[in-house]
Amino acid sequence: MLFGALEAGGTKMVVAIGDGNGKILDRKSIPTTTPEETMPLIEEYFREWNQNKDHEIKALGVACFGPIDLDRNSDTYGYITSTPKTAWKNYNIVGELKDKLGIPVGFDTDVNGSLLGEATWGCARGLTDAIYLTIGTGIGGGVMSNGKLLHGMLHPELGHIRIGKLSSDPGECVCPYHKDCFEGLAAGPSIEKRWGKKGVELKDEAKVWELEAEYIGIALTDFVMTLSPQKIILGGGVMHQEQLFPMIRQAFEKYNAGYINADRLKYLDEYIVPASLNDDQGIMGAIKLAIDELDYQSHIGL
Ligand code: ADP
Ligand code: ZN
Repeated sequence: MLFGALEAGGTKMVVAIGDGNGKILDRKSIPTTTPEETMPLIEEYFREWNQNKDHEIKALGVACFGPIDLDRNSDTYGYITSTPKTAWKNYNIVGELKDKLGIPVGFDTDVNGSLLGEATWGCARGLTDAIYLTIGTGIGGGVMSNGKLLHGMLHPELGHIRIGKLSSDPGECVCPYHKDCFEGLAAGPSIEKRWGKKGVELKDEAKVWELEAEYIGIALTDFVMTLSPQKIILGGGVMHQEQLFPMIRQAFEKYNAGYINADRLKYLDEYIVPASLNDDQGIMGAIKLAIDELDYQSHIGL
């Protein structure tokens, strides 16, 4: 059986076709401009694919930038809500796709999607509790708790926890909402503002990554204390600086200060890890969202 997948990002939309094993058979990237321009191109991709009855997709999964409404009982379920990307504010993306394609549509955050991909086919397989953090243009986190993706009232926003500026930091928090939050101090744009160059051009500047690892280490300590994950997966553009991994593990050890003393923390190189699916974790997670939605709908008898 085949499934459609959409990884909806602020700059591009990745559409793909996958099978029940997460194998990607086809994919395409479409720029994110306005719903009026972008959505018809997405719909056309899936419609064209469906013209051949032999490889028709049975459901679609959408892993979406946010904030989004994930509450199935809400009037605005399936909407992108208060996003700073104004063209997409209060946009009913799930309704539009269901309406135009006539198939079940699964929906979750982009980061929960990536975590689901890792939990199904990647390095979080077999775990019940894990975190996927992306450190890129922003910082977002997906959380799996007791085997389920965590939504709560809305969905977690791990990038906006307050962590406090370090005295060694010559820069400032760039989040428009918060004074000292994780994203505002440690995402790509804050690195660029603080040091005057893009992260990719700062590879050999030790002080850049020492400060970055401190901030990430502090945040991960908070997440371990509050969510008790069995593994933490780090993805996103900034994490392409692979030298960060050992530095982050060291910072985590410093801030944990021996307080949490679980077996998994004895092997930090297996506890704080890079994403394992060649940057396909998001689109593979969207395939799993489609599989799960079909399952859900058949259980509730739709
Ligand atoms: P997005 O978050 O928009 O989906 P990315 O995860 O690629 O996209 O993140 C983009 C951010 O990551 C930018 O701020 C960019 O400067 C930074 N970045 C991308 N590649 C690298 C790199 N190799 N090293 C450091 N920073 C990087
Ligand atoms: Zn913030």
